Amino acid sequence: MTDLGQALGLYLHWPYCARICPYCDFNVYRPKGDDEALLAAILDDMADWRERTGPRALASLHFGGGTPSLMKPDWIARVIEAADRLWGLSTGAEIGLEANPNDQARFAGIAQAGVGRLSLGVQSFDDAVLAGLGRDHDGSGARQAIDMALSSFDRVSVDMIYAHAGQTLSDWRTELGEALATGAGHISAYQLTIEPGTAFGKRTERGETLAVDGDSAADLYELTGEMCEAAGFPAYEVSNHARSDADRSTHNRIYWEGGDWIGVGPGAHGRLGRSTADGGRIATTAARRPSDYIAGVATRGSGVPDAGREQLSPHDDMIERAFLGLRITDGLDLDHLAAATGCQPEAAGIDRMIDEGFLARDGVRIRLTPAGRLLADRVTREILP
Ligand code: SF4
Repeated sequence: MTDLGQALGLYLHWPYCARICPYCDFNVYRPKGDDEALLAAILDDMADWRERTGPRALASLHFGGGTPSLMKPDWIARVIEAADRLWGLSTGAEIGLEANPNDQARFAGIAQAGVGRLSLGVQSFDDAVLAGLGRDHDGSGARQAIDMALSSFDRVSVDMIYAHAGQTLSDWRTELGEALATGAGHISAYQLTIEPGTAFGKRTERGETLAVDGDSAADLYELTGEMCEAAGFPAYEVSNHARSDADRSTHNRIYWEGGDWIGVGPGAHGRLGRSTADGGRIATTAARRPSDYIAGVATRGSGVPDAGREQLSPHDDMIERAFLGLRITDGLDLDHLAAATGCQPEAAGIDRMIDEGFLARDGVRIRLTPAGRLLADRVTREILP
């Protein structure tokens, strides 16, 4: 499998959603019609980015959001054409898009535009669960959308949410079993988290219980791993499971493996400069509001305001790479980490986590054990200086 630690990806954030889900803390807005001004700004921003990155071919182009399946297929085609003209798409580059099941009538057009991988926000097949999550599709719409996606795209991911209040192991076994049997080659199973500031966050503050407790969530997580493994979808990351190496998400692997990515569109994040050790890794955040983003591109030529450009210290770069790199089952290459950042995690912390059964060492790599994966962030914090 290719090492994506040296790769370049392009992430496009389309910030509109037909309905804002009550658990979502992404940078999202209700659309006020087709926003062609935003498309034009994104295309201009891409041209500006090309001057900074120089001629490096893209290993992935990912349309995220928000709901990029709300974009017109010919707009998607224009972005793909621009990316290919500006940087070039490397052989086998992944062109992926996140889709709402309700947009299934557009899937054939989106595929024709050049998208090869669809990540479908199914979340559940149960109408009552979908209503509780505030989703605007139902189980039968999800099933039809999966069929449409499988007939339109080479690669499909079915994205699910679990650990909502009241969900039993038996409920999840049924839902996940259906997802695994669809014929899709990739399953993302995300645990529902209650984020402050969201509608679910406010309802939780008022005393409602909307997610299962920690022990139940751990049981559901373990069941997820067991069922995916048994069905031939081993985990390659804490929440992601693929039938084969080719089914893994290149876009996400670039994040986890320490590659570079450009972020265009409102609120998009980017990382550029492969190594802080030899030149400086920069974190970028584009203006969040679509109007500010468009105005920024018009006046500065860039969607990233000065305040959205941060030089990462080698130490901060190492911490970020450790958090991301330990999420993947292949683990974190300590030699690569030291070469990229000039910094190391704490040897004593690593030994302690190995002794406690949360980490395993394999040559220069460390990786989370199944027990460690349940506590990924805590284990990572234990090994950081
Ligand atoms: S569709 Fe996705 S991005 Fe949009 S509000 Fe719902 S969870 Fe957030």
